[in-house]
Amino acid sequence: MCESFGSPTSEIIGGGFLFYSLLDVSAGFIYNKNDMKKIILIIIILIITFSYLAYRLIEGIRLGNGGSQTEVAENYDHNSLLPEAEESEEKQENILVFPVDQFRQRITKKPFGIYITPQNSPVQPERFNGYHTGVDIEYEDKTADVPVFAVADGVVRLARTASGYGGVVILEIELGDTKHSVVYGHIRPSSLPQKGEIVKKGDSIGLLGTSFSTETDGERRHLHFAVLSNNSLDLLGYVQNKSELAGWIDPEGLFGE
Ligand SMILES: [Zn+2]
Repeated sequence: MCESFGSPTSEIIGGGFLFYSLLDVSAGFIYNKNDMKKIILIIIILIITFSYLAYRLIEGIRLGNGGSQTEVAENYDHNSLLPEAEESEEKQENILVFPVDQFRQRITKKPFGIYITPQNSPVQPERFNGYHTGVDIEYEDKTADVPVFAVADGVVRLARTASGYGGVVILEIELGDTKHSVVYGHIRPSSLPQKGEIVKKGDSIGLLGTSFSTETDGERRHLHFAVLSNNSLDLLGYVQNKSELAGWIDPEGLFGE
């Protein structure tokens, strides 16, 4: 045991030697002004170095916990009665949630307002013609169930099958002080909500239908998502002129980042 940790006697001797050497050196410095300046300079450098390291350490701890502190603060604000917290809660209420995961990333074929003909369409073969009233969010690559969500609190005004859609839902919501209709197309009919049902923002209101089945009326698996600037039950996926398109809103502009 003693062998592996070294002899205690030799450690004491070694430590003593070091101690006396340091005393000798410092004694020498006292009689030499230049050496005195050097040692003061070294002390200053050491103080600066240690201060800097301590600062970095404290800063590191602060940043490391920063995320959770912010979250706590936000959660706290939510429940607090301060006027500014109420204001932020109000803003929060006006922000829509996405109708499906990866909403923006998956609008790869038909954005809002694109003029589609059987010849120019990114989807082949194409049977539709006109200005696209909504956005198509593509999910042909996914076989697992894809839920769609209520973008805001609202009422289910229509839930049935329709030509060109398979299952379709119209949710009535309020944007600002105005009622709007939100269309969800190509929904699996067996997953449709009840007409008249009151839903909360973020509630699942159905599943996307299976590609090229009656669930989607023969379409690839995607969500046709459209927003009307009034609460009519208009199911048109395409319109024939720009003045008709004016009744529809580009859904991409309704969401935050
Ligand atoms: Zn569409």
